Amino acid sequence: MPVAQSSLRERSIRYIKGVGPHRLSQLAQLGVETVEDACYYAPRRYEDRTHLLAIGDARPGELVTVRGRVRAKTLRRIRRGQTIFEAAVEDASGVLHAVWFNQPYLAQQLLVGQELLLYGQIEARPRRQIVHPELERVEPDETDVIHVGRIVPVYPLAAGLSQRWFRQVIWIVLEQHAEGVEELLPEALRASRGLPPAAQAIRDLHFPASWEAQSLAQRRLAFEELFLFQLALAQRRSRTQTQRKPQRYQPDGPLTQALRRRLPFTLTPSQERVLEELSADMLQASPMHRLLQGDVGCGKTVVMMSLIAMAVQSGYQVALMAPTELLAEQHARVMRSYLEPLGVSLVLLSQGVPAAERRRLTAEIAAGRAAVVLGTHALLQTSVTFPRLALAIIDEQHKFGVVQRAHLARKAERPDVLVVTATPIPRTLALSLYGDLDISTITELPAGRRPITTRWLRESQRSELYAMIREQLARGRQGYVVYPLVQERAAKDVKAATQMAKQLQAEVFPEFRIGLLHGQMKPKTKEQTMLAFARGELHLLVSTVIVEVGLDVPNAAVMVIEHPERFGLAQLHQMRGRIGRGEHPASCLVVSDAAEEGVRQRLRAFVETTDGFQLAEKDLQQRGPGELLGRRQHGWLRFRIANLARDHALLEEARDDATELISRDPELRDPALAALRSRLALIRQQAS
Ligand code: ADP
Ligand code: MG
Repeated sequence: MPVAQSSLRERSIRYIKGVGPHRLSQLAQLGVETVEDACYYAPRRYEDRTHLLAIGDARPGELVTVRGRVRAKTLRRIRRGQTIFEAAVEDASGVLHAVWFNQPYLAQQLLVGQELLLYGQIEARPRRQIVHPELERVEPDETDVIHVGRIVPVYPLAAGLSQRWFRQVIWIVLEQHAEGVEELLPEALRASRGLPPAAQAIRDLHFPASWEAQSLAQRRLAFEELFLFQLALAQRRSRTQTQRKPQRYQPDGPLTQALRRRLPFTLTPSQERVLEELSADMLQASPMHRLLQGDVGCGKTVVMMSLIAMAVQSGYQVALMAPTELLAEQHARVMRSYLEPLGVSLVLLSQGVPAAERRRLTAEIAAGRAAVVLGTHALLQTSVTFPRLALAIIDEQHKFGVVQRAHLARKAERPDVLVVTATPIPRTLALSLYGDLDISTITELPAGRRPITTRWLRESQRSELYAMIREQLARGRQGYVVYPLVQERAAKDVKAATQMAKQLQAEVFPEFRIGLLHGQMKPKTKEQTMLAFARGELHLLVSTVIVEVGLDVPNAAVMVIEHPERFGLAQLHQMRGRIGRGEHPASCLVVSDAAEEGVRQRLRAFVETTDGFQLAEKDLQQRGPGELLGRRQHGWLRFRIANLARDHALLEEARDDATELISRDPELRDPALAALRSRLALIRQQAS
């Protein structure tokens, strides 16, 4: 009996037959708590059991599902408590040996005469066998219609839950509730994209009648997810475009001109173009909401400073938020050197500042005397108030959440917001993560940069590695040795990095000065070490990953990355961006004996490519959005069906449709869109 639509989300899965208190908590671990959760819980693969293969026909090398009875079983104990369990499984056509290592309990669970379904790869040697097959017991008292004779779903499950049991629960859920699944997509849209109705898609997601039905269902549900998301973003875009901001800028004035004159270089064409786009935004009546992206070292800082100069000469304040103290400090140092001589007052709100000094600084800001305010998320504290804030800049936004972005923007009525990132991200991610922003990209590096040579060395080449470092240092260059911490706060790891620094100093490079930088150091010590390195007083800096972003020392020409296997491509690329920032040829050296194929592929790609966007795309394919963006963003982009590494085309379609719909009906007032409108309200509520 179908239950009213909207209640699927509220209806607990415990009302489904077979789900008791124990199962309920197991299901909760999978995130399946309501009937709706169950409906959208996607299989990880399917098995075509429409015609099961006869055991005698199964060929070596093939992935197959076969069905047979256990004829005999043996459990053997081999050395050191290891076991091999074997079951001879037969049907009318032949016998297959199923083999499991170290799963002795199967000897009790599988009875002779028991009927099984096995899924795995057939091997011919030493005899016809199947090793560690996925296993399903056929229960004699059940109807088979759910589990065989059709395309069957196989779910990602946790220990303790069997495919068979879960499949049965889903079957019952669909029987009772599939009709109640809410249809969010307007019919016209479904028709134009050739998408099946929601209820149909949910049924076919689990128990498709054909592969075509399965792929249509998948497509429909992924589209729906992406569409909802893009709709929320399009609506946000459209709402900011209709807003009117109070601030008015003077685009050309004494400060912007003086800054230009102080620059020791001319801007690249790319910097000029982007600066024009950004200034045009600021001069508009509606607030700017823009992303500035560009590979490491392309020169985003000077673009930010030009905007800052424009805001300050117009009598406004600017806030710049960076993800780490180190980065905030560096921005402060660079910007001070340019702006303070021009009479701009700049304040850095860092954690190291004593309380009394801090109160003085916040008073300066509150009085409007501090024109430029830099800091970490400390800027978000309610004690920090700006009377004349017009421009909010968020650096390396992907380290922050969208919520923090909004938070900073709330420090003023309708400030212009610029988000900056040096992390090249694939288009699908950009459209999702930054879908409510306009995007400007700096596409080239300043002229005269030497390409960085990247090499992958083995442990056995360590003396060669040290020789290469020595050569650079002897020429007056500086270098980094990145020594990653496994756990940021683990004392043991910090000790390993510390140890490494000591050993390099004492045994390898006694003639050079070596510094150490890690996350547990006091901010003051960190800053001193960084400054010493920036001034050239230290030759080699052993560092944990905090060297990843932002640090700018043009004389640094060599970077060693220890344990590169612990990083993704995007991160490796970020680190490499710390060198090759001056006129000297630079080399990046990764040291790894990694044997795992995934890691080897990653390191090969890193050696071969210096294009950040290409590497990011590879990273997305290999590791998914979560690893690429970090945990915080991942939560936000966790789709149930859609997959940003795969659904490029679908995302573009969803975005086009969402944009079109919002331009026609910004607030979704059409009664046919009622379901969509209320779902969108729900999404917004959950996101804030
Ligand atoms: P990122 O985009 O990674 O933040 P930065 O803004 O730190 O890069 O710039 C990297 C280096 O390039 C800095 O030392 C900066 O002074 C220099 N730089 C920036 N723009 C130019 C340019 N047009 N020509 C030459 N050097 C530049
Ligand atoms: Mg930068």
